[in-house]
Amino acid sequence: MLTVLEPATEAVLAEVPRAGAAEVDAAVANARAALPAWRALAPADRARVLGALADVLAGAHEELAVLEARNAGKTIADARGEMAMVVDTFRYYSGAPERLLGDTIPAAGGQAFTVREPLGVVGLITPWNFPLTIASWKLAPALAAGNTVVLKPAELTPLTALRFAELAADAGVPAGVINVVVGPGSTCGQRLVEHPDVAKIAFTGSTEVGRTIAAAAAAQIKRVTLELGGKSANIVFADADLEAAAAAAPGAVFGNAGQDCCARSRILVQESVVDRFLELLEQHVTALRVGDPLDEATQMGPLISQAQRESVSSFLDGEAPIAIRGSAPEGKGFWFAPAVLAPVRPEQRVAREEVFGPVAAVIAFAEEPDAIRLANDSIYGLSGSIWTRDGARALRVARAVETGVLSINSNTSVRVSTPFGGFKQSGYGRELGSHALEAYTEMKTIFYATE
Ligand code: NAD
Repeated sequence: MLTVLEPATEAVLAEVPRAGAAEVDAAVANARAALPAWRALAPADRARVLGALADVLAGAHEELAVLEARNAGKTIADARGEMAMVVDTFRYYSGAPERLLGDTIPAAGGQAFTVREPLGVVGLITPWNFPLTIASWKLAPALAAGNTVVLKPAELTPLTALRFAELAADAGVPAGVINVVVGPGSTCGQRLVEHPDVAKIAFTGSTEVGRTIAAAAAAQIKRVTLELGGKSANIVFADADLEAAAAAAPGAVFGNAGQDCCARSRILVQESVVDRFLELLEQHVTALRVGDPLDEATQMGPLISQAQRESVSSFLDGEAPIAIRGSAPEGKGFWFAPAVLAPVRPEQRVAREEVFGPVAAVIAFAEEPDAIRLANDSIYGLSGSIWTRDGARALRVARAVETGVLSINSNTSVRVSTPFGGFKQSGYGRELGSHALEAYTEMKTIFYATE
């Protein structure tokens, strides 16, 4: 059995059967058996099933939000927002089966055109920080395009995925179209990657595991999309609305207790306003309410596990001074008080590695080219923000920063209708928006001779 803990209390939340390679093989066989009927379903009928699933998920919204909040330690407010996004994601992609368009292309002697075919059985491997949300970003476009799926959630947070499978059956998704296997990455995940009947792996997780998956998938030229780590920069120019930038910065790095691939964990501040910015930031960091995820007023919950707390603590090693420290409860639970380190030099570890916890590094820069150089001085390129009142500068810097998703005078990264994904070692492929459908289909070119 697999023991699932509640990070806020360290109590056992559930015991679930632990799957291994044999269960993965059975799930892949089920998905394979369900494929012909699912892909042959008329587009409007597949759309109706996905719409019904969105309705059932909407009906279970509060139940799913509480389950996710308890299992992942995220605040109930965040969990409600995430479950609303899950519903919206299925709603959005329920429009996709009838919009899988192709091209017609002029060709000598006939007509050429393209169609989009499903890939087959798709393996989905997801992390523990946004469990059902990230799963839905993969499930909905994969199913809309006519694939069947095997989902392997992170072993720390499998509960909403298991409940989702039950709700999908209630909504009328045919048996075998969605399969969930809960087990370790090293056995279950790896078998999914190596299974010859799995056409593609859609993976979200660490860059380290992503690299091994890409290497293993290469043996079969298996399709892979990778959403990996990040070390995003929040660039604050002296001409910005500093109050707004400082008020928004804690949410951008301490949201989900910093366990967010888009965390703006490097705050690059123009040197003439560093002191003022830190003064403003301090009020917001010390006011942050860290505590029981199920309390409506809580703004940050615990970390996911003791191992994660040890890993995050290792960044407070004295290399850079702690300029601001928030508070956190004591006693049971994987609590960690948010911390802002300043001044941080770009070569220090906290400026280079993904912390995946509530630790921000404030780095000063002199001029615009320095900000761009520092922002790009990373193996990652997932997300980021630019704060300035100068519109031309905002666009110049946005074009120069090597990252997949950027916001200007805002710290948001993710919308159901816009593509999301990374540059460099933050991965490849895009999720969400209409672009995600490309990642779950093969393009076929057909030539029809007319002569
Ligand atoms: P992880 O890489 O340890 O695990 C992710 C998933 O991969 C889990 O389900 C795990 O069981 C599985 N896995 C582990 N080893 C495997 C193997 N050898 N073969 C197949 N599967 C295997 O990541 P995590 O700790 O769960 O999540 C945190 C990481 O995820 C962070 O680096 C974060 O930045 C990243 N992340 C990225 C995004 C994004 O969209 N770019 C979103 C969320 C999280």
